[in-house]
Amino acid sequence: MGDWAIYVPPVGLVEPDLHVDNPKRIMRLRRLITKVGLEERLDIVAPRRATVQELEAVHSSEHVERMRAVSQDGWGDAGGGFTPMNGESYDLALLSAGSVLTCVERVLAGDADRGYAIGRRSGHHASRDTGYGFCIFNNVAVAAAAAQRAGMQRIAIVDIDAHHGNGTEAIFYDDPSVLTISVHEDRMFPAETGGYEARGGADAEGSNINVPLASGTGNGGYLYAIDRVVIPALEAFEPDFMLVVAGVDASMYDPLSTFALTAGAFASVAQRLVEVADKHAGGRVVFEQEGGYSPVYAPFCWLALLETLAGAPRSEDPFEPFLADGGFVELAPHQRELVDRLAGELALG
Ligand SMILES: [Zn+2]
Repeated sequence: MGDWAIYVPPVGLVEPDLHVDNPKRIMRLRRLITKVGLEERLDIVAPRRATVQELEAVHSSEHVERMRAVSQDGWGDAGGGFTPMNGESYDLALLSAGSVLTCVERVLAGDADRGYAIGRRSGHHASRDTGYGFCIFNNVAVAAAAAQRAGMQRIAIVDIDAHHGNGTEAIFYDDPSVLTISVHEDRMFPAETGGYEARGGADAEGSNINVPLASGTGNGGYLYAIDRVVIPALEAFEPDFMLVVAGVDASMYDPLSTFALTAGAFASVAQRLVEVADKHAGGRVVFEQEGGYSPVYAPFCWLALLETLAGAPRSEDPFEPFLADGGFVELAPHQRELVDRLAGELALG
């Protein structure tokens, strides 16, 4: 947990504070799991570290070595100028990628019904040659490559983080056996990627699906997009293995998106994805935790995902009474129109 030392560098009159991507939210989730008694339904295991060889399945050896060297220096950036690293970040990144690998291995071996990797650092902005947007190594891509080596032939990666999974898209853009779907806030981050017209490389047309949603989208608009675009695309692809980039920074209280989802909406999304996995992939699905920067609400949203995967009853969301009746959670006409148009462009009916 050495990343406590990551602070936003003081600029001008800005008072330094903890970086939004700090371990505190993860620790709150961990305590919440105990508090609601969910541990009884889970098999909690310590992750192994990813090996350099496993990372190099999707990253250049230069990138892996540079990340090690930057971390060894004790301070630096993984790429893009706002992806801070300290002396423990490389090891933490190995554990993050390794936590997804641990889940994949256990699910493929039949030792677990489903997997949920509580890792930090995130990965979906990291591409072959660089880190980006708080991400050092692309955890979900490393895991997908491992699943491929284990014999999985049609892998679907569904990215529900509020930001575009640009790194994952780039890594698998030319691989028709990996369907990458990203649902994100339109032109939020990275602003220049995530358009629906990015459909996959020449020999992989249709293997990348971007679902850019309007700023301000709440439960209704988000679930409409899941039902209208994501689920039909998965049904058509018929994956034999599923990975989910489980960012909850689309939540109502998140400082890094304008989406307005409640924990209940995340549970609904997870339920729909689990049903697809049960139908097509023999139930094989691994969720991998990524963004989520509201220190108070992100843990409840992750908990909702975990409870759904574990088949546990939903525990109380103390924020629900304040949120559930707000008009912002309803499907707005302009949101419906956007999703309908997108489904038409993607020829999903
Ligand atoms: Zn994000």
